[in-house]
Amino acid sequence: MHYQRLASERELLDGLAQPHAAILCGGTDAMIKIRAGLLNPSLVLDVSRIESLRGIRRNGDAVEIGAATSETEILRSPLVRDTLPLLGQVLVQLGSVQIRNRGTLGGNIVNASPAADSAIPLLLFDTEIQIVDRSEERWMPLESFFIGPGKTALESGQFIRTLRIPIPREGGGSSFHKVGKRNALTIAIASLGSLIWTTEGTISEARLAVGSVAPTPARLRSVESALRGRMLDDALVADARQLITSSISPISDVRASAEYRKNVIGDLLVRALEAL
Ligand SMILES: Cc1cc2nc3c(=O)[nH]c(=O)nc-3n(C[C@H](O)[C@H](O)[C@H](O)COP(=O)(O)OP(=O)(O)OC[C@H]3O[C@@H](n4cnc5c(N)ncnc54)[C@H](O)[C@@H]3O)c2cc1C
Repeated sequence: MHYQRLASERELLDGLAQPHAAILCGGTDAMIKIRAGLLNPSLVLDVSRIESLRGIRRNGDAVEIGAATSETEILRSPLVRDTLPLLGQVLVQLGSVQIRNRGTLGGNIVNASPAADSAIPLLLFDTEIQIVDRSEERWMPLESFFIGPGKTALESGQFIRTLRIPIPREGGGSSFHKVGKRNALTIAIASLGSLIWTTEGTISEARLAVGSVAPTPARLRSVESALRGRMLDDALVADARQLITSSISPISDVRASAEYRKNVIGDLLVRALEAL
């Protein structure tokens, strides 16, 4: 296996044209797969030092984050703290300090685990990702990017340069809860993020995203529209619990049963609405 630390997108595009080439950024997912024999690239392309894939900046009403920016750098960014506080609240629960020093948003979303923590706030914010290959650069909603467990819309020869995250308008209440087997270094058994705006006690807009209860992290559009226009009262909280549990079909696996996951998601939504 050959390893190349790249300095430019041109080198990356050349490398991706080689047979059996694979991108490596922080390596916190890829190295584990390589060691386990699940990934056998003949050429490893390290993108972590490519300047155009790094950095955090404001662009109009959005924050743009380079795909190779580490989670620690994002957590330390005053711009992210001021405009996207929910992203920080989620990233601080991702892995450990050592993992966040190396791990990136690009790696977390391309790895496409149903439990990917960063996907929850990114979906709530209607994030778009910039996909680049030899012939074009285009933006795609993150929601369309996830196809199945470990599967994305990224094709051979392509890479992600930037994530564009629209700053939500003010006044929304946000929450993120992840339930795992332990408090630290845990993979979610179920997670729920919410971003909800109310006007005089009525829900004017609700955005909900879930992790580990579907083949991919996902927005729950049908529940969101059922909540819109409803008065935020006890009856709504009870209805919302019913609605969300019937709208998901999680699987049972070694970490939890489907029934448990449904109950947890219902409880997490109740918690989010009561806090609101
Ligand atoms: C101990 C431990 C704990 C963890 N805890 C959590 C957790 O709590 N929550 C969670 O969500 N994850 C967790 N993870 C998973 C991992 O840390 C994250 O998914 C991380 O964000 C991956 O980023 P990376 O840069 O290390 O990705 P890499 O391992 O470098 O890459 C992952 C995949 O993305 C591809 N890739 C990377 N960058 C690009 C790019 N720019 N364009 C195209 N493809 C790209 C690679 O080819 C590879 O397929 C944990 C991992 C470990 C080892």
